[in-house]
Amino acid sequence: MRFLMKFGGTSVADAESVSRVVDIIEEQRRVGNEIAVVVSAQRGVTDQLIAIATEIANSRSAATIEPFIQSLRQRHQKVLADLGGEQADDTESILEERLCDLENILNAVHNLRELTPRSLDYIITYGERLNAPVVCSAIRQRGIPSMVMDGCEAGILTTPQHSEAMSLPESEGRIRSRIQPLLNDMVPVIMGFMGCTERGIVTTLGRSGSDYSAAIIGAGIDADEILIWTDVDGIMTSDPRVINDARVIPSISYLEVMELSYFGAKVMHPRSIEPAMKKNILVRVKNTFNPSHPGTCIVRHEKWDRRVVKALTYISKVTLVNICGAQMIGRPGVAKAIFSALADRDVNVMMISQGSSEANISLIVDESQGSVALDALTPLTHQGLVREVTANRDVAAVAVVGSGMAGAKGTGGRIFTALGNGEVNVMMISQGSSEANISFVVREEDGPRAVRILHDEFNLSREDDA
Ligand code: ADP
Ligand code: ASP
Ligand code: MG
Repeated sequence: MRFLMKFGGTSVADAESVSRVVDIIEEQRRVGNEIAVVVSAQRGVTDQLIAIATEIANSRSAATIEPFIQSLRQRHQKVLADLGGEQADDTESILEERLCDLENILNAVHNLRELTPRSLDYIITYGERLNAPVVCSAIRQRGIPSMVMDGCEAGILTTPQHSEAMSLPESEGRIRSRIQPLLNDMVPVIMGFMGCTERGIVTTLGRSGSDYSAAIIGAGIDADEILIWTDVDGIMTSDPRVINDARVIPSISYLEVMELSYFGAKVMHPRSIEPAMKKNILVRVKNTFNPSHPGTCIVRHEKWDRRVVKALTYISKVTLVNICGAQMIGRPGVAKAIFSALADRDVNVMMISQGSSEANISLIVDESQGSVALDALTPLTHQGLVREVTANRDVAAVAVVGSGMAGAKGTGGRIFTALGNGEVNVMMISQGSSEANISFVVREEDGPRAVRILHDEFNLSREDDA
């Protein structure tokens, strides 16, 4: 069998966890399986890279760069030192070289006081650039040949949208010819989260993008399975940090995971399902710290669970944009003007709802795009197409997901009755065309309570409820 295994930041945070990762790889190699590995940055490093790059581009002083580089050095060298072994020397000098490059780039950003999307993308790949050699070194210490490749070397060719690049169809053939021939002899360790454009410019695939890298590489090498190793036992009925009795879902469909991840469930990157789905590759989410747990299987048709509602998720970092005006009624072209204005500014609309009176259209966009959306739509008021455009940032979007909802009568009623009884005020409702998702918007402070109410309403913490 051929496996693509992705290890997230939580799975490689210290020498003990890296050893666990190598145990998993070693065991699979021992029974004759071929393994390619994708790793992400150590937990928190990408956030730190974004923070420092933004800070030094706007600050008079570069004083924070040196201590930051030192903290990265300590963190990665410590894992390496704790792992022990002979390979450490070689890897140590690779890390030193990378840290020196990063320091120079950060100083250049500071001197220029300019942080372009292209330079930010390059900078934030350093979490993976530092972590992958450490994991590779640990694999070699166990006598398994291994080499490190960045996303571009591995063959991931992307669109040029920095911070949200998408893999191009050409990636598949490139990955196949570059990675497949290695698998018989070694375990390649590929840096997740990044690719490059045709011109060789480094791009990133969006936050949590190593999951997407895993799916692209898994599809490219025709993997029998893609394994996403993380720090929980699988995909759960809700975020376990919000719902303490959330339960692991044994089996879930590609479509359901797409809906969940799109609406903020942090377990998977929203685009990471598509490459696997195209090739019908089974994706399994498992816990590095509890490998004997079967985890969650993600498959095309989920047959076993008869539940109508499978899981719940919510995102608080969204903005509700309200567009209203009696002049919108019966006037063709208003919706076109709204969506063209947003598309021209690259605003991604996550939810749409239109009142039956047509005097109101509500949209949900990512919080980071709220002001841009407002700027893009305000000219429509000057043109007399709409009366008013307003934005409300204190909201959360909740998604209720389950393909069993398609055709099941009364689910919507049950959801909104339960919320009403719990005195949660629903500000906007939208049902996806797939019918596997009913999503709605509430006040931000009501988000976790809304999820709790519905988790109870649909008995999601019970193993056997149908
Ligand atoms: P990794 O470093 O492995 O990529 P992440 O932190 O990106 O890990 O994602 C795993 C985390 O996602 C879990 O620790 C959990 O807290 C959170 N999470 C949110 N929603 C869910 C869900 N529905 N099922 C499982 N985990 C979830
Ligand atoms: N390191 C990247 C991030 O934090 C990618 C990932 O973890 O998957 O978003
Ligand atoms: Mg992740």
